[in-house]
Amino acid sequence: IAEAELMTGRVISAHGLKSKVMTDDGTMYECAIRQVLKSLSIDGRSAVVAGDHVWFRAQSPQDGMIERVGDRHGIICRTSRGQQHVIVANIDYLLIIASAAQPGLKPVLIDRFLLTAKQCDVEPVIVINKVDLVDTAPLQPIIGAYAALGYRVLMTSAESGMGVDYLRELLHGKQTALAGQSGVGKSSLLNVVQPGLGLAIGRVSTDNDKGRHTTTSSQLIPLAGGGAVFDTPGIRQFQLWDISAGEVAGLMPDVRPYVSACRYPNCLHLSEDDCAVKDAVADGRIDARRYDAYCHLLEDDLLTITR
Ligand code: GDP
Ligand code: ZN
Repeated sequence: IAEAELMTGRVISAHGLKSKVMTDDGTMYECAIRQVLKSLSIDGRSAVVAGDHVWFRAQSPQDGMIERVGDRHGIICRTSRGQQHVIVANIDYLLIIASAAQPGLKPVLIDRFLLTAKQCDVEPVIVINKVDLVDTAPLQPIIGAYAALGYRVLMTSAESGMGVDYLRELLHGKQTALAGQSGVGKSSLLNVVQPGLGLAIGRVSTDNDKGRHTTTSSQLIPLAGGGAVFDTPGIRQFQLWDISAGEVAGLMPDVRPYVSACRYPNCLHLSEDDCAVKDAVADGRIDARRYDAYCHLLEDDLLTITR
């Protein structure tokens, strides 16, 4: 097949053998997947996933056949029963959205998403929204601590518009996945980043969706002027958490160097004498607040940590 006859597009969602593909001009196609691609699964994972860049042959104004899938980077996946399932591919940023109030800031949730970003090798961006509701002075040390670790942190308000221009510029031309608990203002922020988008605000958490395949379905929100945001229930909440307790320290860049120095092979760096991580905390090479964050992550009952 001559490449010239093929159209290109971005996979918005992939359900079994059917994928929704959007072209650059916003046209949607329902695409099937060429048999040869199905057997030849890419990097041992599904042949076509949300976020994939694909080449397809249009068979009607609405239907097509995917002939080729582009190389992937920035793959966000979850593991269940030892099997990896890609939720979305080709993600440049994991946008970790928290709120300063209503609901109040929970750094452990940010830390948890940071682990996932690290594990998936996707650059995290921390957004603290609803700053119009609080005095921001008490937030500065928290923001400073993340910034000192090299993470990008922005304060925003979907209400007052603070930080929104910066966020819009950051997302421009990138593929971004959204993370953050319900109610922090993810939809509100996108609505002000892209006026006219009209996402529903104040959605109640999706109890009705249980049992449906919400964890694997993705929504793609194309941004004016290039780039897109993936809003996927499975990434929003990470209800299916698959980082084991033993992996946590190794996913924290500032703690990691001391993990390999620890003499105990399966050390969780909590109570053992002579533990290299605890020694580093004791003499300040690891920030005590970060060690607290580490302990919090291990205690976090939102995580289904396997010990
Ligand atoms: P999502 O569940 O994360 O998508 O959150 P929503 O965008 O649905 O917002 C949840 C609630 O927070 C709604 O009542 C919004 O009006 C409100 N909200 C969102 N962003 C802000 C903000 O920056 N400031 C204030 N004061 N309220 C906000
Ligand atoms: Zn140790």
